[in-house]
Amino acid sequence: MAGEPQDDCLFCKIVGGKIPATVVRETETTLAFRDINPQAPTHILVIPKVHHPDAASLAAAEPAILADVVREAGEVAAEEKLDSYRLVFNTGSGAGQTVFHAHAHVLGGRGLQWPPG
Ligand code: IMP
Repeated sequence: MAGEPQDDCLFCKIVGGKIPATVVRETETTLAFRDINPQAPTHILVIPKVHHPDAASLAAAEPAILADVVREAGEVAAEEKLDSYRLVFNTGSGAGQTVFHAHAHVLGGRGLQWPPG
């Protein structure tokens, strides 16, 4: 069922404590942890605890939780003392999505080029 934990989902396993992560913030609905392969001095993932495959699916099913994710991204950026940051939701394998559990990348701490690669 939509939103239920998936046995084969890496981020559901992190939410369930079955795989360790460097958690920086947690709320009732979200978890924020450091990316294992950082692409910037600060690279933190903010995820909903519920399972939806991407941000648009989450928005359609549980829009308040997508809002929680975006708000938490801002809290993470503030805690990391980032003046500027990039918030990225890769959606689809062609855009680089590799984990099909909605997540926001918070990237900062260096200059970020536009357009992204
Ligand atoms: P995507 O490519 O947008 O789906 O982002 C998935 C992100 O998850 C990538 O940046 C990976 O480096 C990151 N990642 C994969 N496994 C782990 C893990 O076990 N802990 C933290 N980050 C992970």
